[in-house]
Amino acid sequence: MNDKGVLYIVATPIGNLDDISFRAISILKAVHVVAAEDTRHSLRLFNHFGIDTKLIAYHDHSSDKQVERLLRHLDEGSDIALVSDAGTPLISDPGYRIVKIAREQGVKVVPVPGPSAPIVALSAAGLATDRFSFEGFLPHKSGARIKSFEAIKANAGTSVFFESPHRIADAIKDAVAVLGAERSAVMARELTKTFETFIGPDLQHIQQAIADDANQSRGEIVLLIGPLPTAPKGENVSVSADALKVATVLAAELPTKQAAALASNITGESKKKLYELILTIKAEAK
Ligand code: SAM
Repeated sequence: MNDKGVLYIVATPIGNLDDISFRAISILKAVHVVAAEDTRHSLRLFNHFGIDTKLIAYHDHSSDKQVERLLRHLDEGSDIALVSDAGTPLISDPGYRIVKIAREQGVKVVPVPGPSAPIVALSAAGLATDRFSFEGFLPHKSGARIKSFEAIKANAGTSVFFESPHRIADAIKDAVAVLGAERSAVMARELTKTFETFIGPDLQHIQQAIADDANQSRGEIVLLIGPLPTAPKGENVSVSADALKVATVLAAELPTKQAAALASNITGESKKKLYELILTIKAEAK
């Protein structure tokens, strides 16, 4: 234990103000000072919840003097909270620099969790969530954007991007060119707000919706691209059609090792290949 202050990283709503947590409000009220991305923006939130803690501006490009000032407060034992305009600080928002330095200097950094647009979008999009990667903002220029889509083309999980409404139509066009119109995808717009919309289940539906209705390219957007589709049953292990048939029948009746050995005896195919194939068949039958 040391007697330094605590740096709280406090998530705030991404639209619906009721999404703030009780803990966030009490910490924002209790700390010595709140470092905010935009003090005027945070003041509106503070007024809504009757918080009158002093606000000071903080960016990752804030002067060293400003960072030193925050660190001095912490050193002297004062607690500080960091907020961004919306959602979780550090997620495509300021905070990385102060958290890194604070940790290096032995300051306790405590997260106060709440909404974050990528997770909110994933939670209701209906795309795979067992694995996902957050890719931040898509690049502004088409060439770089195409490279970003190429980089996630073979991802086994869902890829999550932020995109500005002004560029979403062009981004979808580039995504279709790289990933194909049928690639599963969801555009999550205006999350937790009045005009919250989820459009999917693939790129062509998003493209059509934007072409049909200019409102679909307004507001705040998270674009989610689904995983590379897995090969249909057994297709990724190449065996003859007959061997596939035998393996499928035996897989339903016998333990994997025994089914593979028997199928190999019957068909002459490699036992190892058949073993893999039967594992896939059994996994997909679950
Ligand atoms: N730190 C924030 C978070 O945790 O959600 C993200 C900040 S980033 C600067 C802002 C981007 O997040 C927006 O341009 C948009 O892509 C996405 N975003 C934020 N709020 C959103 C919302 N309500 N609906 C959809 N996307 C949102």
